[in-house]
Amino acid sequence: MSRKRAAGYLAVLAASFTLAMVAGWLGEPIDNGAYDWMFRLARPGPAKTQSILLSIDEESLARLGGMRRLRAFMAEGLERVAAARPKAVVIDLILADEDDPEQDAALDAALAKLPGLVLSCDMVDEGRRWEHPLPRFKRRAAAVGHVHAEPTGGVCRQLPLVKVAGRERRWALALEAFRLSRGAAHIVESPEDLEVGGVRIPAPWRESRMMRIRYASEPVEQISFWELKNNPALAERFRDRVVFVGMVAQSAAADRFMTPVSGAQTMAGVEIHANAFETLAGGRFLVSASNVAAAALSLALAAAGVAAFAFRTGWLAYAAAAVVLGLAHLVPYWMFTRGIVYPFFAPVSAAWLSVVGAGALQFVTVRRQLRRTEAEKVRYQHAMHFVTHEMRTPLTAIQGSSELMSRYNLSEEKRKQIAELINSESKRLARMIETFLSVERLSAGQMQLKKEAFPVRDVLDACLARARPLAERKQIRLNLEEVAEAILTGDRELMEYAVYNLLTNAVKYSPAETVVTVSARTEGDHLRLSVKDQGIGMEQHELRKIFQKFYRTSRAEKSGIVGTGIGLSIVEQIVTHHGGRIEVTSAPGKGSCFTLVLPAQAGTRVEPA
Ligand code: ADP
Repeated sequence: MSRKRAAGYLAVLAASFTLAMVAGWLGEPIDNGAYDWMFRLARPGPAKTQSILLSIDEESLARLGGMRRLRAFMAEGLERVAAARPKAVVIDLILADEDDPEQDAALDAALAKLPGLVLSCDMVDEGRRWEHPLPRFKRRAAAVGHVHAEPTGGVCRQLPLVKVAGRERRWALALEAFRLSRGAAHIVESPEDLEVGGVRIPAPWRESRMMRIRYASEPVEQISFWELKNNPALAERFRDRVVFVGMVAQSAAADRFMTPVSGAQTMAGVEIHANAFETLAGGRFLVSASNVAAAALSLALAAAGVAAFAFRTGWLAYAAAAVVLGLAHLVPYWMFTRGIVYPFFAPVSAAWLSVVGAGALQFVTVRRQLRRTEAEKVRYQHAMHFVTHEMRTPLTAIQGSSELMSRYNLSEEKRKQIAELINSESKRLARMIETFLSVERLSAGQMQLKKEAFPVRDVLDACLARARPLAERKQIRLNLEEVAEAILTGDRELMEYAVYNLLTNAVKYSPAETVVTVSARTEGDHLRLSVKDQGIGMEQHELRKIFQKFYRTSRAEKSGIVGTGIGLSIVEQIVTHHGGRIEVTSAPGKGSCFTLVLPAQAGTRVEPA
């Protein structure tokens, strides 16, 4: 691979990785959506649960006297629960206010009989303090846990295991229930996790001790106060279990949230706490991948996406890219089933961006290559054109002359003359080929221009001598007006070709008995070499086009003068390679003047190096 291409692919890799990181940062809602989707997809089968709800539902409220009689019917139900000896009882109601004294006394009496009682406190005053249960209830409790849920976008996915309000820290309700159910006295903290009764709970400090709730595949078993009253035998179901008591009535419960498994419906806070407890009890924790691991996954996918196109082409590249895209979507899910939560949007964007970027880069490079080969083909065609047109003249002369020599019995002098003609024509042919190839190689960057110094006078003398016989045939006078004492630097052969071409064009496109004037003047550090004729001239709009390969003016075509339209394109390339330029002035029917402007030094003699 060329260094430039490699740099291109590296740039695509860097850009897709960086953009993916930014996308991941902005795409939290998408990550959350993907989390919920994976959650539903990876839901485990029914597990043996340890918790049970004792619920205050619509029916209980309606039949047991409504909110006014709440504490009374709760007291009655809890008495029955206490008799069944549960492991712990969690009351998800903030018993902070006084009620009817008779009801409060009944509730107090019931609470006193409950083993492992956990009461609730909630944050008030915008998180400045806790609202606690009344002291008379609180003294009955083995623990007071917070009920604070932290939903994102209305969906409750995780729970802070500890919360601070004012100066007071409170463990989550579910965590306290778990502690009591395990008979543990303390919760032991370390920066990475919490430990309760020998169970390690991953909840890093840097993630605010958040725990993702593993919602069960089925609703937590539920018995309402009304059902319990009607069928006291149901109390047996509470034996040895952790009982969560709370409001599920849609009309009365303020703490209802959506969950990854509840779809558009909401789940009562008490059931969410029960699910959090089940997560702890089952030890089925979902931990977040570290930032480094998440970034490494994105980087690996971006690298794979780029590699697909950097090292393969065609369907193999597309197949590799498809595999990378598939992995980007599957790996987060696969990790999820193993209990590790990776971000979703960042790796998926890394894969898509790298695949699209590298694919586009490959497309562009392939197209550029195609264009290059096409340009080469065109150059080749030009070469063929040149060979067939330009070289035919000398070849015909050589052919004819040699035929003459072999067919007829010629005098010695005639033979010598023809042999000389053959010699000079074949030399001309060889020079033409040499010039053509040199210019081709120069423009393809395959050759360096020669750097010899030569006097301009020598070039003009040689060219005029060669052009004179042509001019004489049309009785055109070649007039050398002025020759500056100047030295040119470059390839002398090529320069001669250029000047000779201007001279032959001047003769070719002029009527008989006219004058072609040649001059070479210096102007500062430049030489102005002009060839001026009194020929057919050119239209203004055609002046720029005559340097294109194969372009011929309509006047030239109409007047029936043969040509190929190649010569001036070669002249222009030669002059440009010598650091010069061509100026043309012309008027139809009045003649043309071609001037080569070339860098030159003053002097007549070239000092030997
Ligand atoms: P060719 O002469 O073989 O056609 P050139 O590349 O040398 O090819 O010239 C390109 C075109 O420029 C010519 O076909 C002609 O139309 C025009 N041209 C060049 N030199 C002259 C000139 N001295 N006077 C008029 N037209 C010219």
